[in-house]
Amino acid sequence: MASRKPLIAGNWKMYGRAADLAEIGALTETIGPAATNLEVLICPPAAFIQSAAWQNRAGPILIGAQDCSPSAADAARTGEVSAAMLANVGARYVIVGHSERRQIHGETDSLVRQKAEAVVAAGLTPIVCVGETQAERAAGKVTEVVGRQVQASVPGQGAFVVAYEPVWAIGGNSTPTLLEIGQVHALIRETLVGQFGAQANETRILYGGSVNPKNAGEIFTVDGVDGALVGRASLKATDFSAIIRGHPAAA
Ligand code: PEP
Repeated sequence: MASRKPLIAGNWKMYGRAADLAEIGALTETIGPAATNLEVLICPPAAFIQSAAWQNRAGPILIGAQDCSPSAADAARTGEVSAAMLANVGARYVIVGHSERRQIHGETDSLVRQKAEAVVAAGLTPIVCVGETQAERAAGKVTEVVGRQVQASVPGQGAFVVAYEPVWAIGGNSTPTLLEIGQVHALIRETLVGQFGAQANETRILYGGSVNPKNAGEIFTVDGVDGALVGRASLKATDFSAIIRGHPAAA
């Protein structure tokens, strides 16, 4: 029987300044024991990861990164940050293949897999993002697109998390129906089991895309949803703690 500890992750994207790390302190105070049965993660901009990890070294909030270099080894790669460096300053998870990276920076499934494998090699856990665009959904290609992204983007070995983030639901106000979320999560699980066998039942699959304090509770009830990847609503402790406390596993 799989025992998947729920994970609720915040992606701050390229927002905030050092002073905004106070939101993480406020979050720690507001969630209190709610975090005992689940993992709470904040992925601030790279510039603030070390301070955030130091500030939260005693927990309960984990700190992660939003991206990393595909190179596991130190290399002449100006501007890049390796997963080993992120591990060195206290990060625990790294988001890879976010749709903004895929769209703005042209990241391919194969590059996303290299990054995910570099994260695993550094002893951290990648959160591999997948999801269809509006046009792909309209063309009835959700299964094809998400199935392909999962098969080609996840690391060949080691533990990882998958985040299903329909591109059209990110940064807007609409989400898929609960039925649609459940269907895609089931498809992802089936794809992973096809790739890795029964051990894939331990892999957590998060939903992301316009999760907020109002809709989080019902999204968390969907079978196969093991938590959330949250953008805008993770920036303020009040919103993010309301999302966390909306999880059935929150004490
Ligand atoms: C995201 O960027 O991963 C995301 C889900 O954003 P938002 O919650 O703002 O839609």
